[in-house]
Amino acid sequence: MPAIQRELITLSTLDPRMPLVFDTRELGRKPGAMQRVSSTVPAPADLDLGGVVGVPELADVVLDLRLESVMEGVLVSGTARAPLAGECARCLDAIGGELTVDIQELYAYPDRVRDDAEADDEEHLVEDDLIDLEPALRDAAVLALPQAPLCRDDCPGLCSECGARLADDPAHKHDIIDPRWAALAELRTVVDQYESGSAGAGPTEER
Ligand SMILES: [Zn+2]
Ligand SMILES: [Zn+2]
Repeated sequence: MPAIQRELITLSTLDPRMPLVFDTRELGRKPGAMQRVSSTVPAPADLDLGGVVGVPELADVVLDLRLESVMEGVLVSGTARAPLAGECARCLDAIGGELTVDIQELYAYPDRVRDDAEADDEEHLVEDDLIDLEPALRDAAVLALPQAPLCRDDCPGLCSECGARLADDPAHKHDIIDPRWAALAELRTVVDQYESGSAGAGPTEER
């Protein structure tokens, strides 16, 4: 998934002007210190599952987070809420909704990451007192997004023959009969007519 690989932590300095980059200087390094972050930020691009459904770029992401100073770094926990847009996997109608995800992520102080051999590539770091919430938000959102969103649970989808929306026309069908069964279907029609008392009405009926 290239969208995620692009977000792997690099050692480049974070830009404090980025909407999802937060400054932890006010929190300080004293373990136990806590700071609440309630903030609305614009959604980053490509917060989706290949375009099927996702958070529109620049949509409001409402963050309600707690930053906690712990020995190893800064623990971020809380929720992110954002609107969703996409299309129904069955009928392709536009659908909306809201995504709420839990975020829990430890941002380690670089000087606490001792064993480079065991350092996890995806470990999040506090860089120059800054933390970047975007990878955490992205991971949580991508996991929570529905793989096959539906406009409603029982969406009947589209006709496989002609693409008509079956929700508009529940009785929609095509009388396509395997030729091997055609003769039987004809007989069925005759029997139905007979049983419904209309025998004799048809031009081919004789008694
Ligand atoms: Zn649908
Ligand atoms: Zn059809």
